[in-house]
Amino acid sequence: MKIKREIVEQIVAQALRELPNESCGYLFGKKNAVSANYPMTNADHSPEHFSFVPQEQFAAIKEARKQHLEVVGSWHSHPSSPSRPSEEDIRLAYDPNIIYFILSLEAKEPVLNAFRIDNGHVEKLALEIMDQEESDL
Ligand SMILES: [Zn+2]
Repeated sequence: MKIKREIVEQIVAQALRELPNESCGYLFGKKNAVSANYPMTNADHSPEHFSFVPQEQFAAIKEARKQHLEVVGSWHSHPSSPSRPSEEDIRLAYDPNIIYFILSLEAKEPVLNAFRIDNGHVEKLALEIMDQEESDL
């Protein structure tokens, strides 16, 4: 999985802005590469849970199509827990075709990991952060 550095910077900034609550968004791109963040509202406004607003989900899918991109993943932050899916995250991961990114703000340096979650089975993916120059996304 590849992601542009500027996208990582955008989601870290959004997650820090929305502390102490969890923050979330969709990630657009193609196949194994993320090229855009689509910020979403955490409808739960909670430090321990998040959920998307259905109207925003429709708008996100529409926007991805408009940009000729796919919704390749979603992300959310863990303000004070590690960068791996919680039991609830695993239970609520309904789509084995998208990649679940989790940004942990637990330590001083933010940690971002990517996972495929299929029917309760979690697979951590190698995540490559691409600098603008080396990416042709
Ligand atoms: Zn979570």
